[in-house]
Amino acid sequence: MPNTNAPLDLLLLPTWLVPVEPAGVVLKEHGLGVRDGRIVYIGPRAEALKQQAVEVRELPGMLLSPGLINAHGHAAMTLFRGLADDLPLMTWLEEHIWPAEGKWVDEAFVRDGTDLAIAEQLKGGITCFSDMYFYPKVASERVHNSGMRAQITVPVLDFPIPGARNTDEALHIGVELFNDLAHHPRITVAFGPHAPYTVGDDNLEKIRVIADELDAMIQMHVHETAFEVEQAVAQNQERPLARLHRLGMLGPRFQAVHMTQISDDDLALLVESNSSVIHCPESNLKLASGFCPVERLWQAGVNVAVGTDGAASNNDLDLLGETRTAALLAKAVAGSATALDAHRALRMATLNGARALGLQAEVGSLEIGKAADMVAFDLSGLAQQPVYDPVSQLIYATGRDCVSHVWVAGKALLEERRLTRMDEQALGQTARAWGLRISGLAEQDGPHPR
Ligand SMILES: [Zn+2]
Repeated sequence: MPNTNAPLDLLLLPTWLVPVEPAGVVLKEHGLGVRDGRIVYIGPRAEALKQQAVEVRELPGMLLSPGLINAHGHAAMTLFRGLADDLPLMTWLEEHIWPAEGKWVDEAFVRDGTDLAIAEQLKGGITCFSDMYFYPKVASERVHNSGMRAQITVPVLDFPIPGARNTDEALHIGVELFNDLAHHPRITVAFGPHAPYTVGDDNLEKIRVIADELDAMIQMHVHETAFEVEQAVAQNQERPLARLHRLGMLGPRFQAVHMTQISDDDLALLVESNSSVIHCPESNLKLASGFCPVERLWQAGVNVAVGTDGAASNNDLDLLGETRTAALLAKAVAGSATALDAHRALRMATLNGARALGLQAEVGSLEIGKAADMVAFDLSGLAQQPVYDPVSQLIYATGRDCVSHVWVAGKALLEERRLTRMDEQALGQTARAWGLRISGLAEQDGPHPR
């Protein structure tokens, strides 16, 4: 049992504290106390100052919120950032990304690309991310070393991929990794059938059986484009989401990424099954994939989280920017300025993300007993003045350059905009070296990528 009389490890004193739960609340001049990596105290400043604490940190002009949760991405693809832009999804995938992955992706690529993604995300206020990429064991080791939190999603396709010669080998690796990390305090392992058009019924069945047995989450790209849905209907007279329902894949452990195409029947399936939707607006915009009707989903009671997708299709891992895009786009799509207001947008980027990843009991809000995953945004700059509603200011007027501090499980991973455990200069050098190697290939084999 924790000693509740022991001094706090850390007492934070921000100007604004936004717990996200209860919804819509902004606590002015409050303190938050951390002990053994967990939030153990929240109270008014005057009372908070009477608490004994090993470290007291004043955060004047800052907004303290739960850490942002990037619910979908492909971390190591940071090394393909800007490799092939301004192309439709299937051309981009088949003619550029898949060949580049076949040529370049190995364990060293995943190691260096994941480190770059972790650093970029921490500097942007993200404390937890979902990753779906090759060599998931390597990615999990990078997350472990970094102190960050993540869902490592093991990719499964019907064809050979880097690190797995066939689907059964990919599943075997996934089960082994799941069991190895079953008690890890910051890492969960999920299964990631890539998309309805890359995984057939037999393999989806296998994934469902394994996930049910392990009580594991499943993350999948679903209804990313109208083409995907039209092609499936033309070939099998069945919409992909209906097929996943028929195969028993949907449920509270199912994370449907993208969902730009939603019929009334699709919406009913999402609601009934209590599946989560992960909205990636900038990837959808850039690949002209379509628009996820976030407000319609929200009003129907579907849990909607937000993700950046990979850096090759976004091209940044900026979840604060992504959330702003989502908030603006939701209004345009719904034809209503009241759609996805600032407070709900922040909830989508925090607690809804936690719920989608099955981590809502652990993170996603600043509540007593939860892990101390937190971010301090500096709202003292000229671009944020004056501050009427700090949450509105955060969503609509603040960039990730205002992220000042980040804690995961009570450990400071970013202090005054500097990473505490990673060498930014070395990360930049490594990334540039990969860029030179990869663009050398493009000169030999085809047009030079940007
Ligand atoms: Zn994706």
